[in-house]
Amino acid sequence: MHEMSLCEGILDVLQQQAKQQQFVRVKTVWLEIGKLSSVEPDALRFGFDMVMQGSLAESATLEIIEVDGQAWCFACQQQIIIEHRYDGCPLCGAYQLQINDGEQMRIKELEVA
Ligand SMILES: [Zn+2]
Repeated sequence: MHEMSLCEGILDVLQQQAKQQQFVRVKTVWLEIGKLSSVEPDALRFGFDMVMQGSLAESATLEIIEVDGQAWCFACQQQIIIEHRYDGCPLCGAYQLQINDGEQMRIKELEVA
């Protein structure tokens, strides 16, 4: 399950930040997940609890913020919202799209102690 390794990546970041900013516990993690990132929020939640066990983020709350997929449609010359990576433009059906948001997975904010 690739969500497990994503959670291990999150833990690495938390540990680095803890060193830099000198906190010892993470209480809440706000994670931004783009709808085009192919990350399953439910699987991620599950993996998160397992991976964080015994770490500085044990029993931390994971808040997932889903970000819409956004793309530029060359035919319509405007910004559109897409649900899936290989969707066409909802307005004109064209597939010539430049995706510019919704592929990310990143830590947006932390509540620490
Ligand atoms: Zn279009």
